[in-house]
Amino acid sequence: MHRHLAGRLVIATHNPGKLAEMRELLAPYGIEAVSAGELGLAEPEETGTSFAANARIKAVAAAKASQLPAFADDSGLVVDALDGAPGIFSARWAGPAKDFNAAMAQIERLLAERGATTPDRRGAHFVSALCLAWPDDHLEEVEAGADGTLVWPPRGTAGFGYDPMFMPDGFARTFGEMTSIEKHGLPPLGLGLSHRARAFVKLAEICLDRR
Ligand code: IMP
Repeated sequence: MHRHLAGRLVIATHNPGKLAEMRELLAPYGIEAVSAGELGLAEPEETGTSFAANARIKAVAAAKASQLPAFADDSGLVVDALDGAPGIFSARWAGPAKDFNAAMAQIERLLAERGATTPDRRGAHFVSALCLAWPDDHLEEVEAGADGTLVWPPRGTAGFGYDPMFMPDGFARTFGEMTSIEKHGLPPLGLGLSHRARAFVKLAEICLDRR
């Protein structure tokens, strides 16, 4: 049985880019969202070996610590020609300085080493695993992806992380060149393009009631 969500929710992220996206996604459902950062909750270590496992670790830790339902996302960029790297290590590739220009340059270096210079060799997808955890251990979990091609040099200054390098299928612009509404806004305002938007639609179908 799926459980519906109402009232207050903790968003288990310390990443301001993701927090802003999640708040926008939750707004139409009348959910009052506070972040784990605002509540001063500790960030658990992400020791899982999959996106889903890491989302579960973060959501369960925040639900237990706050005694409120908690929502977590684990996401990353999966590059076909790099055997799935950086994958669950997408944030770590940017290092402690969170330097995504360096992380993108590293991907480009590895692609060049493998001769992946034409678009057909530069396929990648973003993945988003979402977990909603309640303090009594009930879980709701979904996962979705967004397919695209990696471009070089990076283009655009919108979004965050690897956005400037990622051109979603069917578009001639990168996520870094799209407005937030285009990237993750849900229909009718946006196209629901991003992995997080797609995963969110799945979760909304099973757990949320539109106001
Ligand atoms: P997490 O906080 O462990 O889920 O780290 C995910 C990392 O993947 C982020 O820090 C970004 O580097 C990357 N990432 C995830 N979603 C996106 C996105 O929508 N655009 C760009 N980069 C993303």
